[in-house]
Amino acid sequence: MTSAYIMPTYGRLPVTFVRGQGAWLWDTQGKRYLDALAGVAVCSLGHAHPGVHAAICKQSETLLHTSNWYSIDAQERLAAKLTEKSGMENVFFSNSGAEANEAAIKLARLYGHHKNIEKPYIITTDKSFHGRTMATLSASGNAKIQDGFQPLLEGFVHVPYNDVPALEAAIQQYPGVVAVLVEPVQGEGGVNVPDSGYLNKIRTLCDDHGLLMMLDEIQTGIGRTGKFLAYQHNDIMPDVCTLAKALGNGVPIGACLAIGKAAQLLTLGKHGSTFGGNPLACSAALAVLDALDNDDVINQAQLKGNAIYSALTSSLEGNPHIVDIRHKGMMFGIELDRPCADLTLKALDLGLLINVTYEKTVRLLPPLIIDYEQIDLLVTTLSGLINGYCRDPD
Ligand SMILES: *Cc1c(COP(=O)(O)O)cnc(C)c1O
Repeated sequence: MTSAYIMPTYGRLPVTFVRGQGAWLWDTQGKRYLDALAGVAVCSLGHAHPGVHAAICKQSETLLHTSNWYSIDAQERLAAKLTEKSGMENVFFSNSGAEANEAAIKLARLYGHHKNIEKPYIITTDKSFHGRTMATLSASGNAKIQDGFQPLLEGFVHVPYNDVPALEAAIQQYPGVVAVLVEPVQGEGGVNVPDSGYLNKIRTLCDDHGLLMMLDEIQTGIGRTGKFLAYQHNDIMPDVCTLAKALGNGVPIGACLAIGKAAQLLTLGKHGSTFGGNPLACSAALAVLDALDNDDVINQAQLKGNAIYSALTSSLEGNPHIVDIRHKGMMFGIELDRPCADLTLKALDLGLLINVTYEKTVRLLPPLIIDYEQIDLLVTTLSGLINGYCRDPD
């Protein structure tokens, strides 16, 4: 199952999928699985989405790639659409989430140097995840992904998540702070949902101290939390917002959006990407945004998210090993009182794809288009599995 020709950076489950349709996947043996992970919040519109399929086919008939040295129609249309839906002003396109955050980090450093701050600092949070490049792993609040890669990039300060006094103290302590970078809900860190006013307080602090508020919406964006972007729950605007994962529904694309002073920093020659925003990726993303607009997917996702949460809560009720069940829209974390990584394999046997993050938290990121029959199956299978596992872990 695991190839000797591939660097073993991933612990892979013993399955190969050959086909998908909506929330279903089929393996080489023809066994069907319910996908409650969506390729880690990527295939939010489900597998083999007809609109995305058609857009990719059509684009590949005419042009896959030119260069950012020329204007690209699909890129311009996507940028217009994204800024309209987000309220932001302009966009830099990349190919992944880490690269979108790289753009945000570079932009924050330029912002600092424009203010004559020689050594600009960016505040990020403990348990955060911002990517695996050197800058983004330095930004992340997770020693495990940093281990072995020292020296890390300088210029990051970590504070506890959902802790406004700690953030205030760090701003006081480091005169070179230029930006705050946070996830609206921490994904990899265990699906940590902050207090409802957390982002608003960060906004106020950033305004008071002239800092850029930068939101990593790579996992939370594109409808995942029940709004197009998670900050839209809070009626605020960040200065910078990064996207990737669900933006292309499986076609690699990332974006760094900015507004106001932050939108004026990445000027001629300051950044680039060969593939970033190419016709193929942008056509896929345009099809994703069209589908979200036309089909009321996001409002439905909010309702389905609440339905899954209450069904999970009642079917896991009375299980003394459940520490907490957290959710925002279609992001779910079920925290157990013990490490439970082996649940992913047990769920796979039952035909269900889930993930365990931060050792003890079962994470669900189902496609937003999952239907109610599939929701029943998901909740029944998973709660049966977890309850059984807590009684008898083997
Ligand atoms: C997945 C993720 C990233 C990294 O995205 P890649 O496309 O894997 O580089 C960054 N931030 C958050 C919040 C993520 O969930």
